[in-house]
Amino acid sequence: MPIANSIADAADQLREWRQDFHRHPELGYEEHRTASVIAERLREFGFDAVETGIGGTGVVGVLHGRNGPGAEDRAIMLRADMDALPMQEVTDGPYKSETDGKMHACGHDGHVTMLLGGAQHLAQTRAFDGTVYFNFQPAEEGGAGAKAMIDDGLFSRFPCRAVYGMHNWPGQPVGSFHTRAGPLMGASDEFYITLKGRGGHAAKPDECIDPIPCGAAIVQALQTVVARRVNPLSPAVVTVTTFEAGEAYNVIADTAHLGGTVRSFDSVVHAEIYEHIERIVTQVAAAHNIEVTIERSDTFYPETVNDAEATAFCLDAARALAGEANVHDGAEPTMGSEDFSFYALEKPACFMLIGNGDSAGLHHPRYDFDDSGTVWGASYWATVVERALPVA
Ligand SMILES: [Zn+2]
Ligand SMILES: [Zn+2]
Repeated sequence: MPIANSIADAADQLREWRQDFHRHPELGYEEHRTASVIAERLREFGFDAVETGIGGTGVVGVLHGRNGPGAEDRAIMLRADMDALPMQEVTDGPYKSETDGKMHACGHDGHVTMLLGGAQHLAQTRAFDGTVYFNFQPAEEGGAGAKAMIDDGLFSRFPCRAVYGMHNWPGQPVGSFHTRAGPLMGASDEFYITLKGRGGHAAKPDECIDPIPCGAAIVQALQTVVARRVNPLSPAVVTVTTFEAGEAYNVIADTAHLGGTVRSFDSVVHAEIYEHIERIVTQVAAAHNIEVTIERSDTFYPETVNDAEATAFCLDAARALAGEANVHDGAEPTMGSEDFSFYALEKPACFMLIGNGDSAGLHHPRYDFDDSGTVWGASYWATVVERALPVA
């Protein structure tokens, strides 16, 4: 099944849309312009309903097939994320970010455009029987926008039997598709440790309680969590990424702040890791006579687990579109995380990776979505819908 003519013909228009989104990046829960452009397009396409303001700035477009609305077992959801990152773009292209310090460095501008491309085609053809919910989600980058939409009644308002998502993947050829059944992306969250000692003159350490040696001992001791406490066959990461203390060479600091992240492929292992962190940090601090508080962020992203049946279906859809040679089952799991995982906890789900060519990596200041991939992504969405909800 080659790319549909109407999608191939829309390539220039899709490029224009994508580059316009790229010029106007918005951070999580601030995607007001992006959401309103999306809603306007969906209405122009003749969607049956367009709901806005879901979970903050989320948009859901409702499209019925040629036989009208379908019940839950004939309804599916397709998801694209809308938010940009708080980074400075380093490229100098004609459609470079117009806002200093904000950038579409994860290709969500491309994700939105691919889903719009599929939406436009399907609204014209309606070559399916049932209902498709087009979910444009806010705040994927750390803000758990997926959870916000679910908490706002996403699945009771838009009941469906499965959810499908897609992310562009630098380093893989444009027009290639990659995924795997089971865990694809890691669970992730952050921790913050505050060490309170007693500051004073650097020459009188005996009169102070120095939080820096205590922090250093904690950083060392935390290395044993993955090395000595986690099952070696269960991938996990504990990384201390920030350590802030002191301001002057002759002053012992009063407090030290450490922060870091935990990654795993198993929520149970994840919880156990936190028990080890808690125990080690508390007792090392006690040994140093330091007061300690440990906080865990409330934006835990679970591991993204692809449903076996949904994944087999999506791989087949991709093969039908792109050919056997361009579709790769058994993609390597990554410790990167995705809030698509929240949908996958609720519904059978498949997260597909689509090649973005030899672009810079995700979250790199020179990253750019490859516009030549848009027709492939839009066609993937159309293929998924036509095969999931076939006309009798
Ligand atoms: Zn990202
Ligand atoms: Zn992303």
